[in-house]
Amino acid sequence: MLNIQSKLQNTDTNVFTVMSAMAKEYNAINLSQGFPDFFCDSNLIDSVTKAMLDGKNQYAPMAGLPALSDIISSYILENRGYKYNARDEITVTAGATQAIFTAIAATINYGDEVIIFEPAYDCYAPTIRLFGGIVKAYQLTPPNYNIDWEMVKKLFTSKTKMIIINSPQNPTGVTLSVEDMQALSKLVEGTDILLVSDEVYGHLVFDEKPYESVVGYEELRKRSFIIYSFGKMLHTTGWKVGFCLAPKKLMAEFRKVHQFNVFSVNTPMQQGIANYMQEGNQLNGLANFFQAKRDLFRNLLSGSRFELLPCKGSYFQCASYQNISDETDVEFATRLTKEFGVAAIPVSAFYQNSDDYKVIRFCFAKKDETLRKAADKLMTV
Ligand code: PMP
Ligand code: GLN
Repeated sequence: MLNIQSKLQNTDTNVFTVMSAMAKEYNAINLSQGFPDFFCDSNLIDSVTKAMLDGKNQYAPMAGLPALSDIISSYILENRGYKYNARDEITVTAGATQAIFTAIAATINYGDEVIIFEPAYDCYAPTIRLFGGIVKAYQLTPPNYNIDWEMVKKLFTSKTKMIIINSPQNPTGVTLSVEDMQALSKLVEGTDILLVSDEVYGHLVFDEKPYESVVGYEELRKRSFIIYSFGKMLHTTGWKVGFCLAPKKLMAEFRKVHQFNVFSVNTPMQQGIANYMQEGNQLNGLANFFQAKRDLFRNLLSGSRFELLPCKGSYFQCASYQNISDETDVEFATRLTKEFGVAAIPVSAFYQNSDDYKVIRFCFAKKDETLRKAADKLMTV
């Protein structure tokens, strides 16, 4: 028998995999894992296909195809108001997950403390631990999941090395305000604390509100790895292409790791996305497109026994079922899948201690027809 000391003890298969498999097994409508059930633009498929036919099938440069980095630089300038240098401040990654992993791997040493905000996306805490870091979790609670920055300050110690923020947040759909960004800027000013800003839903802020990206806050930007996902921007989660923005000095450290855990990201996707984006800003209108889905889903459920929590951005709608059942959220989500035919994510999965506030998460990045069918079933719960 091999004696293996696990580096990630008590880590099970992640909740998205588990719930999507359960949805399949019970033939339930899958509103659990966050991915669209509709096609991406066929022009994008044509663009990637053309790149392959044109022979763009060998290794890309380590940091990304220059054509794509240039387009990313223009996109960020146009949408966030600051120009990242395409050559040494942008790296194309194999999705946002790899970018987050690499940023943590490149900077977190044994004993370093990292502050995260729970409910938190599932990859942050295990990745921090993998590199010997210590997770300091700030607990957000429903219905508003607000941050009290004075309380965050209490988590600071001499070992605080990094803070990870995610706005709009998965799973809550909460966004950080100007006041939040200013408070955070003040907290980190004069320190060496680094930031990872997970902005994969940055293009999905609703109700005509501006997006408060770290890019717009110099005090934050100068210490940040900012992470995006083309999977979320182009409805292609299965392609696993994203990117990281960071000042040159931080990006140099990022690339030291990137070159050994990925080296480079697949070439025809990069070329295809670059050409597609070059033809015009295909990302305009996404917030309205998803806002209409949020509104449809909320309206369809307005007479249900679920209590819908606020959703300011992302493609997730959280709902409390405290008026329906006192089961744990895992039990309730399981029963919802098996008996009612709709799969959702129990939000306790986003807390390290599995805190259960009787809230589940629905993904509304689905065809209207899928949302209608799911709502019909949810109305009977
Ligand atoms: N961060 C957040 C908040 C996410 O929801 C996701 C997954 N959709 C990711 C990162 C990972 O993105 P990717 O699929 O590009 O790895
Ligand atoms: N980000 C997606 C979600 O929150 C899923 C990603 C994954 O399956 N790892 O549902």
